[in-house]
Amino acid sequence: MHILVIGGAGYIGSHVVKALLKRNMEVTVLDNLSTGTKLNLFPQANFIEGDILNYDQILTALKQNVDGIVLLAGKKAVGESMENPMKYALNNINGVINVLNAMVEANVKKAIFSSSAAVYGMPQYLPLDEEHPVNPMSFYGFTKLETERFLKWYDQLKGIKFVSLRYFNAVGYDEAGDVKGLEENPQNLLPIVMEAAIGKREKLKIFGNDYPTRDGTCIRDYIHVTDLGSAHALALEYLDNGGESQILNLGTSIGSSVLEMVNKTEEIIGKKIPYEFAPRRAGDPAELTAKADKAKEVLGWEATHSDLENIISSTWNMYKNL
Ligand code: UDP
Repeated sequence: MHILVIGGAGYIGSHVVKALLKRNMEVTVLDNLSTGTKLNLFPQANFIEGDILNYDQILTALKQNVDGIVLLAGKKAVGESMENPMKYALNNINGVINVLNAMVEANVKKAIFSSSAAVYGMPQYLPLDEEHPVNPMSFYGFTKLETERFLKWYDQLKGIKFVSLRYFNAVGYDEAGDVKGLEENPQNLLPIVMEAAIGKREKLKIFGNDYPTRDGTCIRDYIHVTDLGSAHALALEYLDNGGESQILNLGTSIGSSVLEMVNKTEEIIGKKIPYEFAPRRAGDPAELTAKADKAKEVLGWEATHSDLENIISSTWNMYKNL
C-alpha cells in the first residue's frame, strides 16, 4: 500500500510514518513544515513540501498512485483555538474539505483521521467510550467533531472509508531515537516538565490543586506516540481488508495525575522539577480517561509502550542533552 501521510513531519506524524514503514508500506509525506521539521523525515519515505490549503498540491500528490491517506496536518492548541478560531476554521475545516474533495477527484477511498478526546467535552461518566455524548468545550474540539461529520457524509455519498482516531494525551518519543525533532514552544505537560528539569524554563505551573481527584490535580490518560503509530498502521490494514468506517478511542484507560507525572519524572531522571501551583486552566475537566476496548476489538490494537516509565524515559532522552 502507498500511503500519503499529510502532516508526516510533525510530532505524531513522524511516529506514524515509522510505524507504516515497519509494516512495509510505501510512504509519501506531505507537510508544509510550519510546525513539522525535516529532522523528522525518514530517508525511506518520499517527501513533498505542500499545504492542505492548496488543492492542486494535494491532488497532484494523491495522483501518484496513492492507496490511502493519513491526515494529521492541522492546528492543535486548545487555548489558541479560543483566541483565534479563524485560524482553526481555515486549517482544520477548510483544509480537511480540500483533502476530501481531492480524494474524490483522485479516487482515493481510504482515510485515517487524527481526532481527539476534545470532542467529548465535560465527561458525564468515565472511562469515556465512543458512545459518550459529544459536546466540545473548545473550538479545537469542535473542528475535530465537525470533521468526523464530514467524513460520515463523504462515506455515505462518495464511498470514502475512514477510521477516525480519537487520541487522548499523546506523549513520549520513539525509543530508538529515530525521531529527532523537538516541538518548538510546547504547550503540553510533559515537554514543559522536561524544560523545567533542564532549566529552559524557570518552573512548571500546575494548573489547579483543588480538583476532586486523589491529589487535587487533574488526571489524564497518557498514550505513547509509538502506540498511536501502530494504531494507524492497523487501521489502514483494516480498511484495506474491506472494513467499514469507524470512530475509535486511543488511550490506556489508566489515569495519571499531574503530580504523579511530576513525581515519576523526578524519580526517573534523578532531578527535582521546580513547580508551583497556579489557578485552574479554563475548560480543564478534572479527569479524562478512555475506554479503548473498541480499538482492540476492531483493530486488534493495544497500548504496549505506554507505561509511565517508558513515556518519561523516552521523552527525557530527547531533552537531557539539550
Ligand atoms: N498542565 C499543567 N501545567 C502545564 C500544562 C499542563 O498543570 O503547564 C496540566 C493540564 O491542566 C492538564 C494536564 O496537565 O490537566 C495535561 O495537559 P496538556 O495541556 O498536556 O493536555 P490536555 O489534557 O489539555 O489535552
